[in-house]
Amino acid sequence: MAALILSIAVPTPIPGGFDYLPPENYSEHDIAALTPGIRVSVSFGPRILIGILLAVKQTSDYPQDKLKPALAIIDQKPVFSPDIFSLCKWAADYYHHSIGNVLQHALPALLRDGLPATYKSQRAWQLTTHGKGLAENALSNARSQHTLLKLLREHKAVSRQDLTSAKINLTTAKALVDKGLAEEIEVISEPILGASQEPASPLTLNSEQATALKALLVNSDSYQSFLLEGVTGSGKTEVYLQFISHILNQGKQALVLVPEIGLTPQTQQRFAERFNQPVLVLHSGLNERQRLDAWLSATNGKAAIVIGTRSALFTPFKNLGVIIIDEEHDISLKQQDGFRFSARDAAIIRARNNNIPIVLGSATPSLESLHNAAMGRSTKLVLTQRAGDSQLPQFKIVDIKNQPLQAGISQQCMHQLQQTLSKGEQALVFLNRRGFAPSLLCHKCGWLAECNRCDARMTLHLSQRKLHCHHCDTMRPLPRTCPTCNDSQLITKGEGTEQIEQSLHRAFSQHRVIRIDSDTTTGKDGLSKLLEPVHAGQPCIMVGTQMLAKGHHFSKLALVVVVNADGGFFSADFRGPEKTAQLLMQVAGRAGREDKKGLVMLQTHYPDNPQLGNLLANGYQHFAQDLVAERQLLNLPPFGYMAMIRAEGTQPKQLDELLLEVKKVANCGAHITGPLPAPMSRRAGRFRAQLIVQSSERKVLHYALKLSEEWLANKKRIGHIRWSIDVDPQEMG
Ligand code: ADP
Ligand code: ZN
Ligand code: ZN
Repeated sequence: MAALILSIAVPTPIPGGFDYLPPENYSEHDIAALTPGIRVSVSFGPRILIGILLAVKQTSDYPQDKLKPALAIIDQKPVFSPDIFSLCKWAADYYHHSIGNVLQHALPALLRDGLPATYKSQRAWQLTTHGKGLAENALSNARSQHTLLKLLREHKAVSRQDLTSAKINLTTAKALVDKGLAEEIEVISEPILGASQEPASPLTLNSEQATALKALLVNSDSYQSFLLEGVTGSGKTEVYLQFISHILNQGKQALVLVPEIGLTPQTQQRFAERFNQPVLVLHSGLNERQRLDAWLSATNGKAAIVIGTRSALFTPFKNLGVIIIDEEHDISLKQQDGFRFSARDAAIIRARNNNIPIVLGSATPSLESLHNAAMGRSTKLVLTQRAGDSQLPQFKIVDIKNQPLQAGISQQCMHQLQQTLSKGEQALVFLNRRGFAPSLLCHKCGWLAECNRCDARMTLHLSQRKLHCHHCDTMRPLPRTCPTCNDSQLITKGEGTEQIEQSLHRAFSQHRVIRIDSDTTTGKDGLSKLLEPVHAGQPCIMVGTQMLAKGHHFSKLALVVVVNADGGFFSADFRGPEKTAQLLMQVAGRAGREDKKGLVMLQTHYPDNPQLGNLLANGYQHFAQDLVAERQLLNLPPFGYMAMIRAEGTQPKQLDELLLEVKKVANCGAHITGPLPAPMSRRAGRFRAQLIVQSSERKVLHYALKLSEEWLANKKRIGHIRWSIDVDPQEMG
C-alpha cells in the first residue's frame, strides 16, 4: 500500500499545497491522526520553511519517488482554528494570493518562526525534597540564601522576575541548587489582563440610538450584517458599546476593527473603562511576544474584547459573538501591499461563516456598503442627529479666486481664526500636505527639485533643511543655489502644513499653534503629547493633515478651515470624489462637538464646483447616491467588478511584454485594459505598469485572475520583475 501524503501550504507565491511524504519514523496510524492546521517544517528548494498541513491524502499527482519527506511535525494541536483556516482559504481564492502566504500572514510572527503556541516561559526555582525537609532557621548565617529559602517555602515556584523584585541575585539561587536544596524549572508566566474595577455606566440612549440598538439585538446570535450610518458625533460608539455589553453577557467575545489605532487613544479608553472584563488593544507598539500573548488570550477566551487594525481580523477566538468595523469606509482597512485583502470584506465572510452579527459603522459609508444595504444584503440603521446637545456644524464656501492669501489662507479665514481665539475657542486648519512647500524651483532658469528615483517632485522641509520625496523617502540637503544655473533665487511653490504653521504662528503669536502631521507625531505618545493642550481646553489652532480627521473628539473646537477643498474632486481616480467627500465630512465633523456651534470654512478656487455644491446642499447621503448612480452607468464598482495586475521592474519594455503575455493567458471573457503605465510610472527607481481587469460577473473576473496567477507564479525566469494581483483595488496607482 502506498504511503499517506501530506499536502502542505508553504510560504511561496505558487498557489495551492505541496505534496510531501510523512517525516521518517512516523507510523501510518500517527499520520492518519494528524489534524490540518498544524505546523510542519519542510525543505523547499535550498531552504527549510515552516508550512501548514492542509490535508492528509491517499494519493499524489506526483510519483512517490519524486516526493521528499517532511522534516518534522511541530504541533500536536493546530495553530489554526477551523474558522480562521476556512477564512484563509477563502481569502487565498478570492484575493489570488497563495494559501501558503495567506496562512503565514494570519499567524503572529513568533508562531511563523516555529515557537510554541504558549505564553512566555521563564526560569524558576522550587525546593527539592531535601530542601523541603530543612529546618526554618537553616542557612541563617548566609542571609540572602536564607531569604530565598523562605520565599521558596512560601511559594511553589519563584521565577527569575520574582528574584529581581526581591533583590536576590542569580548566584544565590545557583548556590541553593549546588547544595541540592532547590532545582531549576520552567514556568509559564501568564500575562495579567487588567479590567476596569468600576466600569463606567452606559449613557441613556436617545431615540435613534435606542432604535438602532433594538434592531441589533433582534437575532443577535446569528449572522446579520448591519450598516450603522450615523453623522459624526451621533453616538455610534455608544451603540457599539451597549451592543457588545449584551454579547459579553452571553459569555461571548467581541472583535473591534478600527483603521488606525494610534490615532484614537480616546476610543480605546472608552472601551476599557466600560467593561469589567479584559479589553486587549493590538497596537503597533506591541512587541512580538506581546502579540502572541494577546493571540493566546483571545484563543483561550480570557480576553473579552480585542481592538485592532486590519490584521487583527485573523485573531482566533474561543467564542466570538460579534465583529464591529468602525469607520468602515476608511481606505486603510485594505492592505495595499503583499496580501492585498480588505479587512472589512473578509470580516463579513468571517461573520457569515461563524454565524454571528457584524456591524459596519461610518458617518460617510463607502459606496460598496451603501449598495449592499440598498440590495438588502445588510440592514441600514441611521443616526441623523448628534448625540447630547451638540449640533452639526454650518458650512461656508470661501471663494479665494483673486484674493490675497497669507501662506494659502484668505483674509476672511484669518479674521475668523482671530475671532475664534478671542472667544477662547479652538480652531483646526486642515491641509493634506505636510512639509513646507510641495515644490522648490529656480526663479531664473526654471529648474525644479525632482526625485531621482520617482516621477515626482521633492517636498521642501524647511526646519530640517531638507528635500524629501514622500514616495520613496529619499532625502537630500537643501541646495543653496540652483544646481543648473547656480543662481541663488530658489523659490517655493504651494504650501504645506509647516509653512501654514509658521505663518499662523507669526499672526497669532500670543496663542499656541500646534502642527499635527506624521513629521511632528513620531515616537511613542507623540500625538497624545501634542494634543494635551487641546484636550486641556486652551484656545489654540491645530494645523494638520488627515491624521486630524479621524475619530478625534475635541470638545472646544469651534472652527475648521479647509485650505483646499476641491483638489480631490478633480483626481483621475474614479474613487476621487467619494474619498474627497468622505474626508471633508470627517474633518468638518470635528467641529462643534459639545455645546459649541461649529463653523466649517471651505476655501476653493472653484466655488461653483457642482460636486462640492451638491455635497454641501444635500449632504453626504444624497451625494453618495448620485455617485452610486454614476458608477452604475459606467459599470464601475460596486456594479462591475475590478482587479489590477501590477508589475514593476527596471525595464519598462519587459513589463509591457510580461503583461501582454498575461493578457493573452487571461483572455476568457473579462475586459482587460493595458498594459498601461501606472499613474506614477517610476517610483523608488523602479518602473510600474498595470493591467485593469473588469467584468460584470465575479466568476469571469476570478477565472481570468486564476489563469493569470497560475501563469505568473509558475513562470520561470521572470527576471527582476515583481508582480501582484489586487482584487477590489482602492487605489488605481
Ligand atoms: P460617534 O462614534 O458617532 O462619532 P460618539 O459615540 O463618539 O459618536 O459620541 C459623540 C459624543 O456624544 C461623545 O462625547 C459621547 O459621550 C456623547 N454621547 C453619545 N451618546 C450619547 C447619549 N445617548 N447621551 C449623551 N451623550 C452621548
Ligand atoms: Zn537655475
Ligand atoms: Zn522618490
